[in-house]
Amino acid sequence: MREVDIAIIGGGAAGMAAAVGAYKAGIKDILILERNDSLGGVLHQCIHNGFGLHRFQEDLTGVEFAQRYQDMVAERKITYMLRTFVIDLNKDKIITAVNPKQGLIKIRAKAVILAMGCRERSRNNLLIPGTRGAGILTAGTAQRYLNLDGYLPGKKVVILGSGDIGLIMARQFVLEGVSVEAVVEVMPYSGGLPRNMKQCIEDFDIPVYYNSTVSKICGRERVSSVWISQVDENRRPVEGTEFEVECDTLMISAGLIPENELTEQAGIAISPVTKGAVVTEDNQTSVRGIFSCGNVLHVHDLVDFVSEEGEETGAFAAAYVMEDEALSVSERSSADRTCVRIKSGNGAGGVVPQLVRKDTARETVSFMFRPKAKFKDVKITVTSQGKEIFSKPRAAVSPGEMCKITVGAELLRQAADILEIGIQEAEHV
Ligand SMILES: Cc1cc2nc3c(=O)[nH]c(=O)nc-3n(C[C@H](O)[C@H](O)[C@H](O)COP(=O)(O)OP(=O)(O)OC[C@H]3O[C@@H](n4cnc5c(N)ncnc54)[C@H](O)[C@@H]3O)c2cc1C
Repeated sequence: MREVDIAIIGGGAAGMAAAVGAYKAGIKDILILERNDSLGGVLHQCIHNGFGLHRFQEDLTGVEFAQRYQDMVAERKITYMLRTFVIDLNKDKIITAVNPKQGLIKIRAKAVILAMGCRERSRNNLLIPGTRGAGILTAGTAQRYLNLDGYLPGKKVVILGSGDIGLIMARQFVLEGVSVEAVVEVMPYSGGLPRNMKQCIEDFDIPVYYNSTVSKICGRERVSSVWISQVDENRRPVEGTEFEVECDTLMISAGLIPENELTEQAGIAISPVTKGAVVTEDNQTSVRGIFSCGNVLHVHDLVDFVSEEGEETGAFAAAYVMEDEALSVSERSSADRTCVRIKSGNGAGGVVPQLVRKDTARETVSFMFRPKAKFKDVKITVTSQGKEIFSKPRAAVSPGEMCKITVGAELLRQAADILEIGIQEAEHV
């Protein structure tokens, strides 16, 4: 059994940043466990720009962004194991992993940071009827084929979903000479960043069908066409509205699911809304000493926020190893009972963190959430028993962009046991 101070599961942006954050906070005995053959996670296949505008004030590609953190890990001589797949984690912070060199390995850590990222929703998750020919793939797989393996997945593509990944891939397909026949979006607006709508769709005149879905896939050996139908208020296809679009590929980009199988194995409480762990203001889960950050905690839009959250979580885990570990179980559970619970209020979904300890040592706590619709001229409010205790104006918010509000911890300490974070709208668009 190898023993380490901090073990980090996943070496993507979140995991690398967590390692750097923990190191800066004073813990040097850190081990990153990564199943792929390099650090970087999904960033490796992101050859487009738009990464690092906040973190480095530079417009980097995903690959360049990953390299920055790989260099920081290397400069600090932080240890990592590649091609190492973590298959189990328990409440005692014992990790079981496999790799081709050592076979089965066990690691006991004083603190564990979960940074496993997320996976894409597939055709099976969406239950799209029709045949099962070749040519149906997720955006991440298409991106991998194009950018890492050098294959063109198709020549005539329909894209289901207009989140950032779908938009980026639409543009890349056009640049590779592929005809993008349609982008189909079930909501009345795009789920992506406004800049991606402009730069990836409008600039290339790609047709977008809102309030619509792919209701059938046709073609025996390979996809030959799909049906596009309008949807009702329950997002179900409306019969009689369908029309057929010829294509050889259907690319699905319809949401991401945090990879929390290990989290569940460890008995950690999961939020039914974010599908990530329920955490306190230090991103600590319901199991003491196990922390979570990045896309495995909640799906982020920008890697800058992933790495910021990762660095902070690394520092929290380091503080835990250095100080909190000395607390007895009873001291810890009594601290748990004095948590303020944070609920999503009007227009807001999936607020993280969901709990703030009243005895928190932090001076401020930042909350992140996704707006449920597009709103203009709003204020983000924090209310306690129906009374507004803090607010921040915003010109516009949309589901494609995460919102963040930072609140003084003193305010939170004085608040009632349940707080709501929501959006007060002036105009709903
Ligand atoms: C197509 C696309 C376009 C994007 N465009 C932008 C953009 O323009 N700007 C921007 O800021 N952001 C963008 N992003 C988002 C950004 O890339 C991600 O938010 C960020 O990289 C996620 O980092 P992460 O570490 O949380 O997850 P990941 O990068 O997914 O890393 C998780 C890591 O954990 C490893 N892992 C998982 N399970 C295990 C296990 N059991 N054992 C060992 N290892 C494990 C995985 O192999 C992986 O390396 C884009 C993402 C995509 C996919």
